[in-house]
Amino acid sequence: MNRRYRKTIIAGNWKMNKTATETKALVEDVKQRVAKSKWCEVVLCVPFVDIPAAVRQTKDCRIAIGAQNLHEEVSGAYTGEISGAMLKDLGVKYVIIGHSERRQYFGETDQTVAKKVGAALDAGLKAIVCVGETLAQRDMDVTMELIALQVKSALNAVPTTEELKRIVFAYEPVWAIGTGRTATAEQAAEVCTFIRALIRKKYGARAARGVTIQYGGSMNAQNADELLAQLDVDGGLIGGASLKPEDFAAIVQAANQ
Ligand code: PEP
Repeated sequence: MNRRYRKTIIAGNWKMNKTATETKALVEDVKQRVAKSKWCEVVLCVPFVDIPAAVRQTKDCRIAIGAQNLHEEVSGAYTGEISGAMLKDLGVKYVIIGHSERRQYFGETDQTVAKKVGAALDAGLKAIVCVGETLAQRDMDVTMELIALQVKSALNAVPTTEELKRIVFAYEPVWAIGTGRTATAEQAAEVCTFIRALIRKKYGARAARGVTIQYGGSMNAQNADELLAQLDVDGGLIGGASLKPEDFAAIVQAANQ
């Protein structure tokens, strides 16, 4: 973390868990536990149908609500899809884009991700853009090439430093998501620093140092301290642990140290 230049953000990704009824109690529990978070912004990215309940429950606190996806078009004949404007209208602040589960199970490509980043920006949302390599790619030693492709493609949808202020990157090695296998602090730092260098190349040093770059992949109460101690790791995108208020709050606490 480097709070002098950028925001520390811990975002929970609930994935496809919790009904709207269950949302109320879980958000309330998290809210009580993170109430004292002074330095770290807390975001809860909940399923679409849970958004109204989550927004209602956080009206009187600083927790921001996020979505986990959006459609790239503004409106139209896209049965079952949700637009950025619909999310914005509900009080959503953030949207996760290009999560590896979306890339893996729903065929999202770097091109789709770039379109969605553009759609999020147009709707006035902040985007948490996920990038990361598979185990096979790491073993083949192509991690940096792959990350560069993913990052540069997403940044094609970000024309100026003004829009860049609404972009967060999440480095999420696919092999670490939901597996209990975390990247080492050195591995996380190496890629996060590389992502910042790519941003610097396009927008300059001043803009790049303001961008929040999270790590995601089995981050938990035990490993959060070491990961967040890395200068270029500005927070976390938390899956499994975000459904356990005690664990999630412990990560938020680590991010406030
Ligand atoms: C995620 O879904 O973005 C994630 C990091 O999951 P987990 O923390 O469970 O590995």
